[in-house]
Amino acid sequence: MLEPSVFLNRAEEMKEELLEKLMHILSIPSIYDPNTADNNAPFGKGIREALDYMLNIGKEEGFRVKNVGGYAGHIEWGEGEELVGILGHVDVVPPGSGWSDDPFRPYLKDEKLFARGVQDDKGPVLAAFFAMKMLKEMGIDPGKRIRLILGTDEERSWKCMDHYFKHEEMPDYGFSPDAEFPVIHAEKGLIDLAFHIPVPENEGNGNVQLLQLSGGDRLNMVPASAQAVLQTPKQDSVKRLFETYVTDRKIDGNIELVNSMEMKVICYGKTAHGSTPEQGKNAIMFLLEFLTGLDLSHPLKEKLKKIIGYFRSTSGKGLQIHSRDDVSGSLTLNTGTLRWEQKHMNIGVNIRYPVTIPIENWYPQILSVAELEGWSVNTIDHMEPLYVPQDDLLVKILLNTYENHTGQKAKPISIGGATYARVLKKGVAYGAMFPDRPDTAHQADEHMIIDDLVRSTAIYADALLQIIRHKI
Ligand SMILES: [Zn+2]
Repeated sequence: MLEPSVFLNRAEEMKEELLEKLMHILSIPSIYDPNTADNNAPFGKGIREALDYMLNIGKEEGFRVKNVGGYAGHIEWGEGEELVGILGHVDVVPPGSGWSDDPFRPYLKDEKLFARGVQDDKGPVLAAFFAMKMLKEMGIDPGKRIRLILGTDEERSWKCMDHYFKHEEMPDYGFSPDAEFPVIHAEKGLIDLAFHIPVPENEGNGNVQLLQLSGGDRLNMVPASAQAVLQTPKQDSVKRLFETYVTDRKIDGNIELVNSMEMKVICYGKTAHGSTPEQGKNAIMFLLEFLTGLDLSHPLKEKLKKIIGYFRSTSGKGLQIHSRDDVSGSLTLNTGTLRWEQKHMNIGVNIRYPVTIPIENWYPQILSVAELEGWSVNTIDHMEPLYVPQDDLLVKILLNTYENHTGQKAKPISIGGATYARVLKKGVAYGAMFPDRPDTAHQADEHMIIDDLVRSTAIYADALLQIIRHKI
């Protein structure tokens, strides 16, 4: 085994060239652009230009390169049966506002490189590319095929990968340098469901009528606000009840009188990512709870109570689908959207389930609740969990390499989110963000510390060499 310093010194020697090439690709605004999209550039000209740039520098180094319909491409080195994948992407999110300088004119400041995409994911892609180049220049014969796969639509729909793997071979195993160190080896299963719930009309008794009800915009966020329009001759008493309610619950709320009969009530919760709904305060649930305290028609009130019972628990207890495993923790449920359309309620839910618990174990329970209650349920999206056990040689090699280079003991990470590694049949996310660094991806002044880029290059080279030398 070679000392980490061997790789680090070589990476240092390559730094100037790495920076020059990185700054070149960073200056290409590779943002999805339907206006310039065509058959050769399905996601627009900027993205196509960034892909071409990578493939060109790959060719210059003597690697085999392939453009797969402008959707994706790869840079490949070595011969052999086994195919090792390194999966990154060259598209970036729009710059947004708040930048100190031009996000597509990369600049160095305080040993950091600033530009849109430097962390996500052009810097890590270049680090992986230079790792391949380093090993090639060391005269290594890989005896396997090492393939750097370049996606172009990671930030939107991953359609690049659907297309790529329709035409190209799936690697036997690999990693994605599109997240953080040390290693993400478990990612919960993800399913988005739409519940269609018949609701009785407002008719009958009750001093308060519900005219409108809605909340939340996205399934993967805890809704920050929810609103209802009510009709009542007793505006004063509703107003008092609302003020007491928001005070009791320690949330913010707002009430507006529309006219002498109608009023609009808004509950504000606290948003959080859909993977950690327990850290948020779901505005929809607060609003429903408030409504059940009003003098609504009895059947409607009962229906709202039921909805709260089923959907409020962020662990899925309400639907009796709660479960957990030691690798990835508890199932989470986020009720992200609610729309009421007179005769039915549409509720959008995002569920993330433990990696070792198959969907067949709990999904039928949802169907039986739906059947019992007369709802319909549609799956909007489903991503299987990703899980490579801790004692798998791939995970061991990547962890050991990281430990050797940083001098720090490391444990593999489990997350509720999704990294690009999910695209691989057997893959994990590996870098290039170091644990104590700020995550600036998708933000203004996105940056990467130059030293981290060099260290990542060394780590990737060393890890690839270990992968080459082992039978995985
Ligand atoms: Zn990314």
